[in-house]
Amino acid sequence: MRWLAAILLICLALPLWGQEQSALARIDPDRSSLIAEGKDRGKPRPLELRLAISHPVPYRVYFLDAPPRLIVDFREIDFSSTEPAALAGHDLVPGLRWGRFRPGWSRLVMELSGPYALATAIQSLRQDGAGGADLTLRITPVEQAAFKPRGNAMSALRDLPTPARVASGRTARATDQPLRIAIDPGHGGHDPGAEVGVIREAAVMLGFARELSEVLTRAGYEVIPTRQDDSFVPLEQRMTVARGGQADLLISLHADALPAGAAAGLSIYFWDQDSDDRAARQLALHHDRSDLVAGLDLTGTDDSVADALMDLARQETQPRSEAFARFLVSALNRSGVTMHRHPVKGAAFSVLKSPDIPSVLIELGFLTDENDRANLFDPEWRRHTAQSIASAIGEWAKDEAVRTSLSRQ
Ligand SMILES: [Zn+2]
Repeated sequence: MRWLAAILLICLALPLWGQEQSALARIDPDRSSLIAEGKDRGKPRPLELRLAISHPVPYRVYFLDAPPRLIVDFREIDFSSTEPAALAGHDLVPGLRWGRFRPGWSRLVMELSGPYALATAIQSLRQDGAGGADLTLRITPVEQAAFKPRGNAMSALRDLPTPARVASGRTARATDQPLRIAIDPGHGGHDPGAEVGVIREAAVMLGFARELSEVLTRAGYEVIPTRQDDSFVPLEQRMTVARGGQADLLISLHADALPAGAAAGLSIYFWDQDSDDRAARQLALHHDRSDLVAGLDLTGTDDSVADALMDLARQETQPRSEAFARFLVSALNRSGVTMHRHPVKGAAFSVLKSPDIPSVLIELGFLTDENDRANLFDPEWRRHTAQSIASAIGEWAKDEAVRTSLSRQ
């Protein structure tokens, strides 16, 4: 679990590091508060800490003992212009302090009148378009036996990643640097993917990935392949490779099998945990199964803070993935490539889970469909499709540049 939190912290922090020092998040004391529930002033009461932050930041919440206190570590908030005394309700607790803790980290310490437990921790984007976020932490009094403090303040920071170099994210990339595209041929190794007769999805995708990579390289993009031979690469590692290569976009390539008649034509998927598309659910199960067979557990996490962070980061990434899917649909339309009736869909494909890299999965076709099979073995069709992907990347990149400059204003 710790490594996931660590990865989250890395990936969420990258875009922030790309900005100037002055772009550190700040607290708006007028919109922040500490509220106690109930009227019994003699006893510890449930407390709600609300912090209005100029933009969302990664954070961690935990308790320390002797005296009992709530610690919130932020990466990173500039507290320099705000005194804790400016926060409405600061006097509800024995003590409230905040400030820079160590390079890249700020800390808030709230002394408590007794043992508490974290009830909820939610960071939500404000819907006013200004890019701000509200962090709401609710803590409730518990019996001493139920109090779960960390060993000490340093142990809580021991597993944090060292700051990565400041070269990633849209904000930091120089405009003359080529866009980096992670190309992920599905399956491989002991996981052949869909099999129809002697045709194996893993091999067909590796072949197409090579052709696509060539087209993209010629168009001036830098390609980061997640696998280059017939070897098994776990889904999680595919995302790690993309992140390690500081990819701007991840494209996962598949040509799966579904019962005859269930699906035909190219489709593009972006991450959607709640997708109720039946075919997509079936495919997602199929994709994750090979990882489970390899001994990896992708059944998720019990870390609600990490989940909340993931969701929050995706609020920004998701529209960018969807935008790419739309550019790809129009590029494919222009070159006459046959698509599924509803070519763009959400699906809970684990490989699309990166909260920080826009990601799409392209089912180039379904090996179970005769026409799709013929297309996949038609060099002309593959060339059109690869070129459409390249031109969609170009249009998407222009759109991204516009979004970035708008968000800077
Ligand atoms: Zn597949």
